[in-house]
Amino acid sequence: MSGQAGQAAEEATPRCWSCGTMRAVHFCSACGKVQPPVPVDYFTFFGFPRKLNLDTAALEKEFYALSRRLHPDVFGQADTQERAWSLEQSSMLNDAYRTLKDPIKRTEYLLRLEGIELEEQSKQATEKARATGELKKQVVPPDLLEEVFELNMHLEELRVQKELGEDDPALLEEIGKAKLSLEEKHDALLNELKTEWNNWDRLVDEQSEDSGAGADRRKLLDQMVDVLNRRNYIRNLLRDVNEAMES
Ligand SMILES: [Zn+2]
Repeated sequence: MSGQAGQAAEEATPRCWSCGTMRAVHFCSACGKVQPPVPVDYFTFFGFPRKLNLDTAALEKEFYALSRRLHPDVFGQADTQERAWSLEQSSMLNDAYRTLKDPIKRTEYLLRLEGIELEEQSKQATEKARATGELKKQVVPPDLLEEVFELNMHLEELRVQKELGEDDPALLEEIGKAKLSLEEKHDALLNELKTEWNNWDRLVDEQSEDSGAGADRRKLLDQMVDVLNRRNYIRNLLRDVNEAMES
């Protein structure tokens, strides 16, 4: 855990409201009473460091354990305040679990924690495209330019053929091949992202000793944004191809 996150968690988790002896995020470890929710990030909520390689089996185990303990049936006899806290904790638990178990959502969440809004990024790209007079379209990743150009021509051909009620198996085969290649690239980008995860996690470990790694940190975050953007681009393209083939 980075020093900052550890400190925040300490400040955010006061003594147990009931027995006054223990610090706890969800339940007091001494008397077992549910605790009022504290504003912590999802990693801290589960007691994980802010790293991207995450033990998903441990995450799932902790999720089910907490779900059982926070279940409304358990609080049937509890006072109103405790019941309200258990509901709030439960809702945060579900949000945190959904976000962290998904590799893409987890990465996007970490980027947000680090101050990077992906929507903001794509908005900037759109505005840049407008300013330079290009059509309002997602910027094509350079390594895909040729493939996308050819695919768009084929899709246009397909549209015309469908209008004319014609059928061209060779064209469909071409589009099918392009689709397969894009699907492979889509998968490969997840592996590329995982390489960035390793670099990030190493940086988090090193940073507990060395605080002068701000530039490396920023560069890594930018690289993750780049991978996610390329992956989104391919995902949208695949959606277009599927629509064109089904219509
Ligand atoms: Zn207690």
